[in-house]
Amino acid sequence: MELTVLGSASPYARPGNPCSGYLVRHGGTALWMDAGPGTLAELQRHVRPDRLDGIWISHLHADHVSDLLTAYYALLYADLEPSGPIPLYGPPGTADRLRHFLSNQGPSPVEDAFDMRELYDGRTDRVGELTVESRAVEHGFPAFGARIGTGGRAEAGPGVLAYSGDTGPCPALEELAEGASLLLCEADLDAPADGEAVHLTPEQAGESARKAGVGRLVLTHVGPSLRPEDAVVRAQAAFGGPTSYAAPGEAFSAS
Ligand SMILES: [Zn+2]
Repeated sequence: MELTVLGSASPYARPGNPCSGYLVRHGGTALWMDAGPGTLAELQRHVRPDRLDGIWISHLHADHVSDLLTAYYALLYADLEPSGPIPLYGPPGTADRLRHFLSNQGPSPVEDAFDMRELYDGRTDRVGELTVESRAVEHGFPAFGARIGTGGRAEAGPGVLAYSGDTGPCPALEELAEGASLLLCEADLDAPADGEAVHLTPEQAGESARKAGVGRLVLTHVGPSLRPEDAVVRAQAAFGGPTSYAAPGEAFSAS
């Protein structure tokens, strides 16, 4: 299984770096994971959008979802030829959010572009040759992380990719990452939040990786108050294992 970073900027796209978006491929399967602004363009370097096996959205903040708006145009009103609606896994209410923005004179047929499947904690889906288990994480409103493998539901860690989505420290993060080959984890904060934490510091990302016993930590969604190279050093010190930055265009193997 291979993870390609389409973008990792937070909370707005920068020149050369879209917001959160990733392509997960295994065999002939392609899954677009988070659709931050700028990622639809980068996705096309690797796969035609009408050939995707699925789209998985962690939560409905604009920096993770807004390129679905133009993906809708691409799938229904352009030169692409999807064989049917693309399966779209997203938090409850995803279809209504899209419809509200996309509708002009009359309601837009969002379901013609996307086959909507609402996430809940523990939901497990087979997407092509991938198994995707979605877990609810702590982000102040419905938000999910994912554990992605190529085998069945109870698969062991090697060959597994885990993705934090956006989250504060929580048991679900460590559970979904347990023994994974690769943990793609946000590190948005320079210092721990006062009160309810809805993001992680590099140290908290590293600590979660250490507790989960992952093979490699890849930091993404590094916030504007952090330099990626500093975040990697800080996370690696807490993790004690190999740590990388999710630079746009970079690819990582989760085998
Ligand atoms: Zn968010």
